Amino acid sequence: MFRSLHMKLVMIMLLLIISLMIVVGVFLTNSVVKFYMDSFYQQMQTVFSDEEFYGDLKNKATMDDGIEQIQTMMEGNAGALGINSRTRNYFILDGTTGEFLAGSDPEQGETLEITPNILTALAGNEGYKSDMTASYMDVAMPISGGEHSYIIYILDNRQTMRSLNSELFFIILEALVIGLIISVLLSFLLSKTMTTPIEQLTEAAEGVAGGDFSRKIQVEAKDEIGILAGTFNHMADVLRDTLNAVENERNKLNTLFLHMTDGVVAFSRGGQMIHSNPAATKMLGMRLDEQTYYDDVFHSVVPLQDVLGLQKSEYTKGEMYVGRRSLELLIAPFFGESQAEGGVLVVIYDVTAQRRTEEMRKEFVANVSHELRTPLTNVRSYAETLLDASDLPPDMRENFLSVILSETDRMTHIVQDLLTLSRIDYGKSELDKTYFVFSDAIQAVYQANYMEAKRHHHTLHMTLPGDLPEVFADQNRLEQVMTNVLSNAIKYTPDGGEILISAGQDENQVWMEVSDNGIGIPDEDKDRIFDRFYRVDKARSRESGGTGLGLSIAKEIMLQHGGDIQLRDHVPQGLSVRILLPIEGTKEDGIKNE
Ligand code: ADP
Repeated sequence: MFRSLHMKLVMIMLLLIISLMIVVGVFLTNSVVKFYMDSFYQQMQTVFSDEEFYGDLKNKATMDDGIEQIQTMMEGNAGALGINSRTRNYFILDGTTGEFLAGSDPEQGETLEITPNILTALAGNEGYKSDMTASYMDVAMPISGGEHSYIIYILDNRQTMRSLNSELFFIILEALVIGLIISVLLSFLLSKTMTTPIEQLTEAAEGVAGGDFSRKIQVEAKDEIGILAGTFNHMADVLRDTLNAVENERNKLNTLFLHMTDGVVAFSRGGQMIHSNPAATKMLGMRLDEQTYYDDVFHSVVPLQDVLGLQKSEYTKGEMYVGRRSLELLIAPFFGESQAEGGVLVVIYDVTAQRRTEEMRKEFVANVSHELRTPLTNVRSYAETLLDASDLPPDMRENFLSVILSETDRMTHIVQDLLTLSRIDYGKSELDKTYFVFSDAIQAVYQANYMEAKRHHHTLHMTLPGDLPEVFADQNRLEQVMTNVLSNAIKYTPDGGEILISAGQDENQVWMEVSDNGIGIPDEDKDRIFDRFYRVDKARSRESGGTGLGLSIAKEIMLQHGGDIQLRDHVPQGLSVRILLPIEGTKEDGIKNE
C-alpha cells in the first residue's frame, strides 16, 4: 500500500516535471527561433528599405565595374547587415541566371542552392520569405541598372541560433535533473504525510476487525484524511456500542436458553444441529452435537421437508415418547437474510407429569367407581335375596344382614377416606396441634393394635429411647398415620410374623419406624405405593378391608405437618416404613412465645 502510493506519487511528480520541461523547452526553442528570424528580417528590412542605400546599389549596378562597386558597398555595410564569415554572408548573383558572381564567402557561393527567395528575386521581386522549418534564413534583393541585373543574396546559416538552442537544451536538461531530484524528495515527503495517517487508519481498522475498539486515530489535519479519521473513530464507537448491545442481548438469551426448563434445539436448513440447551439434552436423553441431524431425532414426528415448507408464522405440533417421558414438540421454521440461512427450531415441553396427572385422575375416578360398585352390588344382591326368600332360616338371615352391614361400613369407610383426602386437597383440613410427648402417641397406637397383632400370632416388639422429645402436632392425625402403618404390617405379614416398632431422634426431627418380615413390596411398585387406590395385591387388600387410600392419606397428613413418610430399603424381607416429624420446640417454648 505504502509502496504503491509512494511510487504513484513519484511517477506523477516525474511525469509532471518531464512534461513541464518539454513544454518549456519547446516553447523556449521556438521563441529563440522566432526571435532570431524576426530580428534577421527586421535588420534586412531596415537596411534595404533605406532608399539611399538601395538606390546607390542600383546606381552601382549600371556601372561596368558594378560588381566590384556593389561588393565595396556591401563590405562597407557589413556591420549593419550583420555579415560575418562564420554565420552570415552576402553574395552577388547574376540577376537572370542566379549564378554566383562575387561574395563574402566565394567557396560557399559556388555551391549555393536556388532557394524560393532567389527564385522570387530572379522573377524581379524582393525575396523576403521566411521559413521556420528551414535550416537557414535568407533574403534575395534584385538590383537592375541598365543592362545589368544582379541579385544581392544574404544567407544566414542559423549557427548562432543553433548554438544558443543547444545551450538552452543543456540548461533545460540540467533543470530537469535537478527538478527530478527535488520532485523525488518532495514526493517522498508528501507521500509520508499522506501515508502515515493512512497507515494509522489501516492499523486501527485491523484492530477493529480483531475486536479492539479502544484504539483511536490521532489525525490533527482538517483535510480529507483528517475527516476520514474522524469518521472512522465515530464509526468504531458506534460499532462498539452496537456490538455491546448485541453481546448483552446474546448473553441474556444464552442465560435464558441455558436455564429454561423447556428444551430448545435449532437445526440448519440442511438439518444439522446448530444449537441446543441442556434441558433438550436431558429430555431427549441423548448427546446433541454437530453430528446430530433433525431426521435422526424428529423425522418420525414431522419430516424436515414438511417443516421447511411452512410459511413464516406457521408451526406444527407433535408428540414423542422417550423412555417414560412424554414430550410435546412445537416445530417451526425460522428465516435468515438469504435462502441458505435460517432453519428449523424445535421447542420441547416435558408433559410427563401432566399426562400422569390426567391418567391418575381417570384412574382415580375409575377406582372410586369400582370400589363403591363392588360393595353396592353385594348389598343389593343380599337385600334382594332377603326380600325374595321370606322363608330363610334365621341364622342365614342374620348372616346376610351382617354382610350388608359390613359392606355398608366398607362404603362408609371409603367415603370417609375420600372426604379426608378431599379436605386435605382443598386445604380445609385444619390441624389441631398440641404439645405432647412423641413416645406417648406410639405407646397408644401400640396398645390399640396389640390385640389384633396377637390375633394373627405376630410377635410385636417395641424399642423406644427414654428421652424422646415433645412434639407440636395433631395427635389424633399422627396416631391415625401410625395406626395405618402398624395395621398394614399386621395385615400384610403372614400369621406368626415379627413386627418391630422403633423410634428415635435425628437432629431436629423425630421418627418412628415399623418393620415387618411379611410379603413386602416388589421394587417396581415402591414408587407408586403412596398413590391413591394403589394396592399391590388388590384381592388381598380388599379381603383385609383395605381401601388403598391409607398410605396416601398418611403421606398427606405427614406433609401437612412438614414431615414425611418413606419406605426404607435396607430390609432384606418384609417392609419397613418410617414416619418423620420435625421438632418445633417444646411446650415451654410455646408458652414463652405466647
Ligand atoms: P390398604 O388399605 O389397601 O392397606 P394402604 O394405602 O394402606 O392401602 O396400602 C397400600 C398398599 O400397600 C396395600 O394395598 C399393600 O399392597 C401395600 N402395603 C402396605 N403396607 C404393607 C406392608 N407392611 N407389607 C406389604 N405390603 C404393604
